[in-house]
Amino acid sequence: MSGNESRLQAAYQITNREAMPPKEPKSLDSLWATDVFDLAKMQESLPKAVFKSLKKTIKSGSELDPGVADVVASSMKDWAMGKGALYFSHVFYPLTGATAEKHDGFIIPQSDGTAVTEFTGKLLIKGEPDGSSFPNGGIRGTFEARGYTAWDVTSPAYIMNTDNGKTLCIPTVFISWTGEALDKKTPLLRSNAAMDKAAKRVLTLLGETKIAPLNSSCGAEQEYFLVDSNFVVNRPDLMLAGRTLFGKMPAKGQEFDDHYFGAIPERVQVFMQDVEEQLYKLSIPAKTRHNEVAPGQFEIAPYFEAANVAADHQQLLMTIFKNTAKKHGFACLMHEKPFAGINGSGKHVNWSIGNSTQGNLLDPGKTPHENTQFLLFCAAVIRGAHKYGPLLRAVIASAGNDHRLGANEAPPAIMSVYLGTQLEDVFDQISKGDLTGSKTGGIMDLGLTAIPTFTKDAGDRNRTSPFAFTGNRFEFRAVGSDQSVSGPLIAMNTMLADSLNWIADKLEAELKKGTELNAAVMVVIKEIMDQHGNVVFGGDGYSAEWHKMAVEERGLKNIPTTADALPAFQDKEIIKLFEDTGVLTPVELESRYGVFAEQYVLAIMVEAKLVVSMAKTIIYPVAARYLTDLTNSNASLLAAGIQLDNGPAEKIAAATNGMTSAVSKLEEAIEKEGFATEEEHMQFCANDILGLMNEVRGHADTLETEVADDMWPLPTYQEMLFIK
Ligand code: ADP
Ligand code: MG
Repeated sequence: MSGNESRLQAAYQITNREAMPPKEPKSLDSLWATDVFDLAKMQESLPKAVFKSLKKTIKSGSELDPGVADVVASSMKDWAMGKGALYFSHVFYPLTGATAEKHDGFIIPQSDGTAVTEFTGKLLIKGEPDGSSFPNGGIRGTFEARGYTAWDVTSPAYIMNTDNGKTLCIPTVFISWTGEALDKKTPLLRSNAAMDKAAKRVLTLLGETKIAPLNSSCGAEQEYFLVDSNFVVNRPDLMLAGRTLFGKMPAKGQEFDDHYFGAIPERVQVFMQDVEEQLYKLSIPAKTRHNEVAPGQFEIAPYFEAANVAADHQQLLMTIFKNTAKKHGFACLMHEKPFAGINGSGKHVNWSIGNSTQGNLLDPGKTPHENTQFLLFCAAVIRGAHKYGPLLRAVIASAGNDHRLGANEAPPAIMSVYLGTQLEDVFDQISKGDLTGSKTGGIMDLGLTAIPTFTKDAGDRNRTSPFAFTGNRFEFRAVGSDQSVSGPLIAMNTMLADSLNWIADKLEAELKKGTELNAAVMVVIKEIMDQHGNVVFGGDGYSAEWHKMAVEERGLKNIPTTADALPAFQDKEIIKLFEDTGVLTPVELESRYGVFAEQYVLAIMVEAKLVVSMAKTIIYPVAARYLTDLTNSNASLLAAGIQLDNGPAEKIAAATNGMTSAVSKLEEAIEKEGFATEEEHMQFCANDILGLMNEVRGHADTLETEVADDMWPLPTYQEMLFIK
């Protein structure tokens, strides 16, 4: 099918949507959490004592009694089978960032030819998928491939619906038989525990006596593109790499700023509503939907939840988006940069910590006491973001996100913290040892021991900062759209735990000296700001001045590519951070480095091979054919006495030859082997391979501007972005 034909198919699909008949709108009550085995359903179906024990495990992380597990499994099975499920699946989150599942039937055949069903506590608690095919960075050889999945009781089981059936899904951790974490959930749970422990120390020193378990929260805003599926099947690059490797800019891009918050195209809204119905059944609190900046780009933001549950929900959301898009004749592109030259997609991770007794610790309170707490926790984040900035950069590093960061649309590859004018001013004053007033005029106590009373200033926004305080939470804005939120959450929780432990030590020492509590807090905050205040930046993060100043004056690192970023996992300070907090052992951390480095190299190699094959088998033949046509018709015209300028033919010949020679160089580079280290291999991909891919693309995109539209074989940017 030529580009032209897929254009017509897409247009047909827009006007003929009988494949997706409209559904009757449903009430929230009839949808909400119907497919989740949540606390309410457990309470209904479990004996009182069992429910109490389970609830305790969920709330406090205490160990699950095997007797309890049997009873829970049995009622979970009854509930799921009552809804029509015949299979159950342990769902886990391997290091690739994907969601993995292994399905097992409830069925046990009997000798008399009948069949019964079984689901024991043992089956609920522990699964044994063959883990050998998941990357583990050398932790296990295939001969000892056994990996275990174990139920994460803090994330409820749910039913996954497909057209012909239902599956009971159980969120699990994935660990090796020797107990090492092979997944993203295990360290997320550990990081939360480390943060909880450290925060309790600080709160106790601040005089709190009743302290409920602390949890981190996450609200993730997901950006994505929708492209008609007729175009995608004609673009091997979109199918296999998730982004276009060729394509010239359309005459109209996003320069009119007419898409952001514009009216949602009806076909897209129908898709969104279909998705939202499924999300509500799974108790995923979809809250906001809108058009994004680029044509064909949209966003969904669910309401924030406990980080661990939010991370599971985020994975589920991505799966549902991709599957549902297909039913509506769309492809949902979650790649960070599907179209060069057009804004890419991110996933802002909003993060805070709190509990039921002290509330949100990143929310400035109404009293000086609450504000003391707030300033201290906020300072802890600032210290973490400065001390472990390269870690924050490393956890958002991927081949896809590299195309987005540092460009003029997403945060730069320099980690800095935005606080807002008022808060920045308060910290400034503390660090000058001269706290006299709050800029926007809150109530003030004078003197060194006083903390100002001020309230949040939610209107103050900075869209150019990678890590911004937004009133009662931090927003990590540099995360990529296709990434799991777990990595960023683990990094934030862990660096905070480390800072809080450091703060607790300092406070203890100050109090021992007899310093009054508020004065001691000020001393600690001042020390943090003196050592780490350089990371605070309120200006334009996209500007060239900042790029210069950050590196030359502030000593911050500009880390442009994944190849530059991932080695942070081998940094001594970062190894120590994870070891001290008990979040990842050095072996686990090293394995992560290995897996992420490999993923990066593989991603670029797949793209490079695609560039070669598309250039040779799709673009070159068309260019040669068109050039022949053109030359023949020029000759005929000349015979008839009409002479046309030979410029177009010459341009096509030059671009075709240029492309061919660049392809040869790229083919040679792909074959290169024998890199001394993973880092060297990554650098080769980041520089040589990507450079050659761009060279091929440059020539191909010239051809796209010269070759007849009815012959051009690939759907164009114009078609993919604007036909909805
Ligand atoms: P914007 O696009 O202006 O950043 P949105 O409303 O689209 O804002 O998204 C904000 C996200 O932050 C939502 O997911 C919201 O639930 C989440 N959020 C709000 N408060 C908190 C908090 N205290 N902790 C974590 N996330 C939060
Ligand atoms: Mg946001």
